[in-house]
Amino acid sequence: MQQLAPLSGSIKHYDWGGISYIPSLLQIENPNMQPFAEYWLGVHPQAGCMLILANGEEVLLRDYIAANGVKALGDNVLKGFGNMPYLLKVLDVKDMLSIQVHPSKKQAAIDFEQENKAGVPIDAPNRNYKDANHKPELMVAMSEFYLLHGFKPEDELEAILTKIKELKIFKSVFKKKGYAGLYKMAMEMPQEQVNEVLQPLLSRILPLYQNGTLQKDDENFWAARAALTFDRPGVIDRGIFSVYFFNLVRLTKGQSIFQDAGVPHAYLEGQNVEIMASSDNVLRGGLTTKHIDNAELLKHTKCEATHPKIIKKARAATQHYKVPVKDFSLSSYKLQKGESITLDIATAEIFLLMEGKVSLQSKRLKVVLARPDITAAAFAGAVVTVKALEDSWLFKAAAR
Ligand SMILES: [Zn+2]
Repeated sequence: MQQLAPLSGSIKHYDWGGISYIPSLLQIENPNMQPFAEYWLGVHPQAGCMLILANGEEVLLRDYIAANGVKALGDNVLKGFGNMPYLLKVLDVKDMLSIQVHPSKKQAAIDFEQENKAGVPIDAPNRNYKDANHKPELMVAMSEFYLLHGFKPEDELEAILTKIKELKIFKSVFKKKGYAGLYKMAMEMPQEQVNEVLQPLLSRILPLYQNGTLQKDDENFWAARAALTFDRPGVIDRGIFSVYFFNLVRLTKGQSIFQDAGVPHAYLEGQNVEIMASSDNVLRGGLTTKHIDNAELLKHTKCEATHPKIIKKARAATQHYKVPVKDFSLSSYKLQKGESITLDIATAEIFLLMEGKVSLQSKRLKVVLARPDITAAAFAGAVVTVKALEDSWLFKAAAR
């Protein structure tokens, strides 16, 4: 088998995507201003990633890995997962995404089985569990990036329930029943009451948003934007409550954050590189027109204070992002023109070039990465020498 080869990913045109970031990476013209939301790299059934072999043949990455087994994946990952266990993506978030929570591995397995037994078709709109896997996620910001991440610590949450007068109705339930009681109240409130509570708040903040008075570090900015983005006649999205309940996190380029099972989150704006376990299990909590299953959402949400752990950008050229899962690992290499490093490849690993130009060399195989050809795959046992042909920023995804 060939241990190193160029790879092409698959583009997702979800309507929340931006129109220029991913087209510029892949040097694709976009005259019709189509949204380019995500670029996927992996073996997921919805990722048609192709390897380009030295003889010119193109083969699906997942077929190549299936055909080569241990030679592609290595012993550990083959035994532990049976396949490439991660999905690597580039995201361009123009419009905010739904508030979501991912289940734990143990719970996903139970719930997936239960929905199978209940006979809910896998593609039904009310199907919660698409597979039996968890979906922890790690993201590295490629621009200034805003997201919601877990519940605010107690004092901050109390402060905002006091400051925003329309939210005072939540104060006593939070005091008495904590985070779980607060979230249950917000998620189970009848829609008419949601409208009654939020309408005066929106009437107050929408003009401020529209005349540019609100800043992005202010919850009101995102609440107003959410109201405009998810505008439906007669329905104010209850996800707006969570904009105030959750930590509003700002990452600068190169900073990173990990989101484990149960941590509610929503991406608000920016570009990132994201890696996750290969799964599609998402429970939604608002800012969406998609299916919301309150009972399931509340079951999986860690209703507790979260202190966001922002992973700083390393001073060193090489950064290994520490994650508490084996499904994936991510490393970043900032190389100056002329510098080179040699990497031992342990499993099916993906290179993703975000800036510059590099050559990858393994024995007689050589792949040059430069826009628009920014990805390659290497397989277990390969020894790859990376040489920067320009100042470059390269990522490598792997698993344990
Ligand atoms: Zn997520």
